[in-house]
Amino acid sequence: MDASSISNTQSFIGKEARFGARNYQPVPVVVDHARDCLVWDVEGREYIDMMSAYSAVSHGHLHPRVVAAAVRQLDKVAVTSRAYYGTTLGPFLEKLCHLTGFARALPMNTGAEAVETAIKCARRWGWKAKGIADGKQEILVAAGNFHGRTSTIISFSSEPEYRAGFGPLAQGFKHFTFGDMASVRAAATANTCAVLVEPIQGEAGVILPPAGFFAELREWCTENNVLLIIDEVQAGLGRTGRWFAFEHEGIRPDALVLGKALGGGLLPVSAFLAREDVMEVFNPGSHGSTFGGNALAAAVALEGLKVIEDEGLVARSAAMGEYLIDCLKAVQAESGGLIRDVRGRGLWVGVDIEPSLATARQMVERLATAGVLSKETHETVIRFAPPLTITRELIDRAIASFRQVVLQKAKELGLFDRQPHTETAEASA
Ligand SMILES: *Cc1c(COP(=O)(O)O)cnc(C)c1O
Repeated sequence: MDASSISNTQSFIGKEARFGARNYQPVPVVVDHARDCLVWDVEGREYIDMMSAYSAVSHGHLHPRVVAAAVRQLDKVAVTSRAYYGTTLGPFLEKLCHLTGFARALPMNTGAEAVETAIKCARRWGWKAKGIADGKQEILVAAGNFHGRTSTIISFSSEPEYRAGFGPLAQGFKHFTFGDMASVRAAATANTCAVLVEPIQGEAGVILPPAGFFAELREWCTENNVLLIIDEVQAGLGRTGRWFAFEHEGIRPDALVLGKALGGGLLPVSAFLAREDVMEVFNPGSHGSTFGGNALAAAVALEGLKVIEDEGLVARSAAMGEYLIDCLKAVQAESGGLIRDVRGRGLWVGVDIEPSLATARQMVERLATAGVLSKETHETVIRFAPPLTITRELIDRAIASFRQVVLQKAKELGLFDRQPHTETAEASA
């Protein structure tokens, strides 16, 4: 590391820090370029991307087929708005409906916009189809949810940090405890039009639902004429080892929210999908987006879906995910109690750090220094979600670095000195 490259790193960090709003606290790595699962910083140092932009880069960085589709489309037309028809939106929506089994799709750009679309659809369905007075519709949401950052969505976040000072908050949301049907029943009223829920709570720390919860929830929603809307912005498109995480639960929702990986790792592309009689509530003028479903985005998203299919990335996620979790559990067993839990599904894993010993952020920063990119969520969880294209060899390399970081930290904390005492105590007891 020579002096000029250090100043290079500092200068880029400095500009973002000086001129950007302070709404992020990035890991101090300045990414210069990336290919597939590898990332290089401005000093030429190589990293394994075990985060893939929160699942937005499931295809790996700059997948050649997705890039080629973008370049082809850039020779034709990129943005027309929905004032006209195009040659790429129809084929994209057709593919998406076939893959998900839903009748219709409404394209947007970011995940939060697609969630907003879901909220508008649910409320209008509650009014039109269920006869709830307009303004009285209620949507049930899980405590610990993450559905994005718009003012309506943060109104029902249970994270005080996401809400503080942003009032007046939107009305019409009630919380239940993720995984607890009794709390769903308690939160529901005659005005409940929908349940909006993640299949696995990502930001909350990769929290898996208890077995049977979603089956019961599905049954309850059907019995009570309540829409079940699943937010798979992060979980969908192969991340959990199935095309959609709801498949693990053996259920089908009434509507689905997709985003992140839907953009093939290149562009913001999201969608809200629903049954015919649900999507029917939208008529011309009731909803829209200037960039939603633009020709370039649709071309990229369609190719992205084909890549997941053609390259067998869903099965790959299941197989590599199992391997990754096994490897992380092996490190946990050696960690002297520094790691208190490893959990996940497919290539989406949370490693829970014992909070009295270290923060997840400390571990993430050390891991970056060791050449592995990850990201903390809340105080204690390190999240690993590499591109679905990751190989066993790269997982081995990432795990070797992670193991070193964990063992070093455990050693500094004296965790290995304490262990023999425990064993002796147990033996004499
Ligand atoms: C990321 C995410 C969103 C929001 O997506 P943005 O593109 O950041 O607006 C919504 N729901 C879930 C589950 C997410 O992970």
